[in-house]
Amino acid sequence: MAKIKKILVANRGEIALRIMRSAKEMGIATVAIFSEADRNSPHVKYADEAICIGPPLSSQSYLLADKIIQAAKQLGADAIHPGYGFLSENASFSQKVDDAGLIFIGPSAHSISVMGSKIAAKNAAAKYNIPMVPGTKDAVTDVEEAKAIAEKIGYPVLLKASAGGGGKGMRIVNSKEVFEEEMNRAVSEATAAFGEGSVFIEKYIGSPKHIEIQVFGDKKGNVVYLFERECSIQRRYQKVVEEAPSAVITPEIRKAMGEAAVKVAQSANYYGAGTVEFIMDEQRNFYFLEMNTRLQVEHPVTELITRLDLVKEQIKVAEGEELSFKQEDLKIKGHAIELRVYAEDPKNNFLPDIGKLEKYRRPQGPGIRVDDGFEEGMTIPIYYDPMIGKLIAYGKDREEAIARMIRAIDEYEITGVENTLAFGKYVMQHPEFVSGRFDTHFVKNHFSPDKLSTAISNELAEVAAVLAGLTFTTESNSKEPVNSNGGSGTKSRWKERLK
Ligand code: ADP
Ligand code: ADP
Ligand code: MG
Repeated sequence: MAKIKKILVANRGEIALRIMRSAKEMGIATVAIFSEADRNSPHVKYADEAICIGPPLSSQSYLLADKIIQAAKQLGADAIHPGYGFLSENASFSQKVDDAGLIFIGPSAHSISVMGSKIAAKNAAAKYNIPMVPGTKDAVTDVEEAKAIAEKIGYPVLLKASAGGGGKGMRIVNSKEVFEEEMNRAVSEATAAFGEGSVFIEKYIGSPKHIEIQVFGDKKGNVVYLFERECSIQRRYQKVVEEAPSAVITPEIRKAMGEAAVKVAQSANYYGAGTVEFIMDEQRNFYFLEMNTRLQVEHPVTELITRLDLVKEQIKVAEGEELSFKQEDLKIKGHAIELRVYAEDPKNNFLPDIGKLEKYRRPQGPGIRVDDGFEEGMTIPIYYDPMIGKLIAYGKDREEAIARMIRAIDEYEITGVENTLAFGKYVMQHPEFVSGRFDTHFVKNHFSPDKLSTAISNELAEVAAVLAGLTFTTESNSKEPVNSNGGSGTKSRWKERLK
């Protein structure tokens, strides 16, 4: 077993800091890399050593695999942690790190390449009888053939890029008349965004929840699941609020999903941290979507309910250690919710809002964790993901976690850039969120800019009243707010189903 002494973190911002903190606790030295835009970032100051890797554009800095590996060798690092985004799901990077005689803190190049293609991942998982959304097994290339398949599945269908990620490369097709046009668009979008144009067809599930399972494996072949996270509050197919456990998952479903996720991981000889994503319909049938072969943005909620440090576990697995826990040792304790605090304007379609953090004060107190990568006075660079940080609330149960989240949002002071804090408060106070009966269309069905002014003026006492008055089964209390988006909006049918 090779004990790691120095880790180069091939990332920036909050996740770079997050990783370095665990390394520090383990007595491992850290190296930061940074682009010219990040010279004064907290992750650079926090590291024991730091090296400038290039100009601001990530294609000229954070994505330069060879240059990063060279920096690691130059500074005597023996391992590289890729974080999430950037090179984290790049199979050839994992391979190159290995070839350079360094330890990659993540899965093998093989696992990454199987799971990096949604089509290959589904084919690997299919051998283990994992439930799948009805759809094509291979990429579709011929429009007429594709149309016939779509007809058979039944509209609406979803066209998806096999190499897609981060919510990009998906198009809903409602009828055969627009199929060809949408398919051409999907292929060209996929080619532009991922350099690979393969698309496939899935049935579009109308009122789904996004439920994912955290898995963990070691190099000896042990794989366990660390329960679920629900991430149904999304915009642009991307998560904004995540929680663990899900309010609607029974112990039986949890076990079935967990065991399915372990099989998906085993289908690619997986080790390290990974996430198996599922979509769940109103009957609570679940279907495999994809596997993310890295640490997830929302991993803190799992850390809080399992009391594990996932980064430490990743490092130990990379060193060749066997997992120190078995499935039966793992228990859920309490409830955790994360709000991604983005520099985005919820009043303007969640468009990124770049600017200077004039005022920046973090919330504190019981059950609150903030993972961020900025300080007051800093400017959010336009070059990268506009996430300022993550606000995570933990409570003995969901009610306490929600109350703490609202209290912490009120304490969090950010001026200078628009952000998702007030939106987060709106979500926490919404009867449908409180009840657990929400789906991925929450934002479309219940949110509009005018909601924010009223949400802000609400007092904590009112929220407490909502929380106290609502139980899982009292239908009469959960008044459906009028859909002010004007659209017909598929209203969540979770309401009826979960009675
Ligand atoms: P999660 O960790 O929950 O899956 P996201 O889907 O938002 O979170 O993705 C995490 C980060 O990785 C984001 O910064 C996102 O932009 C980036 N990302 C995800 N997939 C890709 C991809 N295929 N190509 C480029 N960036 C990606
Ligand atoms: P990405 O790689 O971009 O994360 P996913 O396959 O994980 O792509 O899907 C992202 C989101 O898109 C899901 O969380 C869900 O909200 C929505 N989605 C994906 N597949 C379907 C589907 N078949 N029906 C309805 N919604 C879907
Ligand atoms: Mg996904």
